[in-house]
Amino acid sequence: MNLHTDLFIGGRWRPGSDGTRFDVTDPSDLTTVARFAVATEQDCMAAVDAAAAAAAPWAATAPRTRSELLRGAYEILTAEADELAGLIARENGKSWADAVGEAHYAKEFFRWFAEEAVRVPGDYRLSPAGDKRIVVDHRPVGVSLLITPWNFPAAMATRKLAPALAAGCTTVLKPADETPLTAAYVVDVLRRAGVPDGVVNLVTPLPPGPAVKRMIDRPEVRKLSFTGSTEVGRELLHACADSVVGTSMELGGNAPLVVLPDADVEPAVEGALAAKMRNGGAACTAANRLYVHSSVHDGFVARLDAALAGLTTGPGIDGSYSLGALVSTAERDKVAALVEAAVSDGATLVRGGRARPGGAFFEPTLLTGVRHGSAVTTAEIFGPVAAVVRYDDVDEAVRMANDTEHGLMAYVFGEEREAMAVARRLEAGMVAVNRGVVSDPAAPFGGVKQSGLGREGGFEGIREFLEEQYIALNA
Ligand code: NAD
Repeated sequence: MNLHTDLFIGGRWRPGSDGTRFDVTDPSDLTTVARFAVATEQDCMAAVDAAAAAAAPWAATAPRTRSELLRGAYEILTAEADELAGLIARENGKSWADAVGEAHYAKEFFRWFAEEAVRVPGDYRLSPAGDKRIVVDHRPVGVSLLITPWNFPAAMATRKLAPALAAGCTTVLKPADETPLTAAYVVDVLRRAGVPDGVVNLVTPLPPGPAVKRMIDRPEVRKLSFTGSTEVGRELLHACADSVVGTSMELGGNAPLVVLPDADVEPAVEGALAAKMRNGGAACTAANRLYVHSSVHDGFVARLDAALAGLTTGPGIDGSYSLGALVSTAERDKVAALVEAAVSDGATLVRGGRARPGGAFFEPTLLTGVRHGSAVTTAEIFGPVAAVVRYDDVDEAVRMANDTEHGLMAYVFGEEREAMAVARRLEAGMVAVNRGVVSDPAAPFGGVKQSGLGREGGFEGIREFLEEQYIALNA
């Protein structure tokens, strides 16, 4: 296996300049998988220097060449998807099916943006007064800082690297310190595909705050693309304001899932299971609150309970389990505390509710009679806990669904026309109607309200790394 545990700066793998390292832990047995290099602020500055030095030649590289390099990376990941999945399962803890699913999802961003690299449009028009020609070019924004979370360590990296490179930007990637090995693997795939030195750099400062702030302050850095919590996103928006750095922000979610009156229960449960349990519930798109109409409530709960009974929990690297571990014991304990608080607040624990010893495992859990407004409906659970709120009136369900600072994802189950009508009333950047999964590299992914700014994927994704230049010509 290509296991990289060093920083990648200017086309070279190397340890941090002070020689220190941090542990990467397998959350399914709490053993140390590897010791990864800590990047000092000096290393981070060197990464920005390398990206800045590579910026002009990379921007001038023919779009077709950039496209083919990305396509090459896609081919490598296609051949090595299982190897990448092994790393994801090891350091993140997710199930094998989720890890393989992520590896394939991740590689598709390279394919999609290889296709987009050669389709960047420009514009040419006559001014209304007829005195000039307006030429609009789309140019790369410049050096881009990419910060990613641990829950999709490969896909969140490729979802940023692919459009940045396609647009002609050079990059510094800072992955989450829980999952640097997957990010390093992805970076090495780009190296092996032939991406020139300095175009992609990888640093892991610890703690990240001061070094990231210093990188944002560098005049060469023109873009921050961040995926992570709303809390850290807010902090970084403040930091970017000082030097007017452009941002794309993919932040936290608190997705409602609404089951309408007389919805077909079986597909609703199937969708809810995918929306809730994919990635062990550790997804920004995870259904955090299930609003189920009284007319179908009991049937829905009985079927969901039966479906949860069929789930097994164990190490992700062992392909026989449906759910893996949470990323850390701290995350597991946070989920346990939310369940405990919900029960104290009057919810009924129908199934699960306990941590499992040996690793960061938590049982698939079903809560009913949850009060809208209790902590389990306001915090991102990020674990395998389905929290069901019963409702009687659709307007009330819509009000509760929108009663959050977040607006990333929502799900609606019911007769399609009615479900579409409700979907349009929901304050969310993405709505799934009668299905449990939406992610697709060809679709614009992102949120409204405090779930973020901008979109990743789709035709929109590359625009986040482009800016217009208007040239006026005589008519
Ligand atoms: P996090 O905000 O704690 O960390 C995200 C990244 O920011 C990590 O690389 C981390 O090291 C870094 N970071 C932390 N503090 C920082 C600071 N002060 N300055 C600079 N960088 C800092 O989030 P997480 O726990 O890794 O990930 C889970 C969160 O990510 C959830 O809120 C989830 O909803 C969100 N998420 C959102 C999307 C989306 O597309 N909207 C996708 C996946 C995850």
